Amino acid sequence: MINWIKSFFVTEDKNKKPKCYKCGLGASVIVLMEFQTLSMEDFEEKILTKVCNTCFEEIHANYNPVWIPKPIKVKIND
Ligand SMILES: [Zn+2]
Repeated sequence: MINWIKSFFVTEDKNKKPKCYKCGLGASVIVLMEFQTLSMEDFEEKILTKVCNTCFEEIHANYNPVWIPKPIKVKIND
């Protein structure tokens, strides 16, 4: 009964967890991209968005030249 009454007053927060801009899963990281010219002058353009862990790894793989991927766990049968 109380829950039934509460349902009139409490609205569910559907936007509780932000979504990944790329795949739509739950986001876990905020990404800020800044751009500069080759002479290191700032652009006005910045990108601020949210991504999930998988897409975060993907961004690193695509754009980070010094990124080292996590080691792949291999099951060895003796
Ligand atoms: Zn994602």
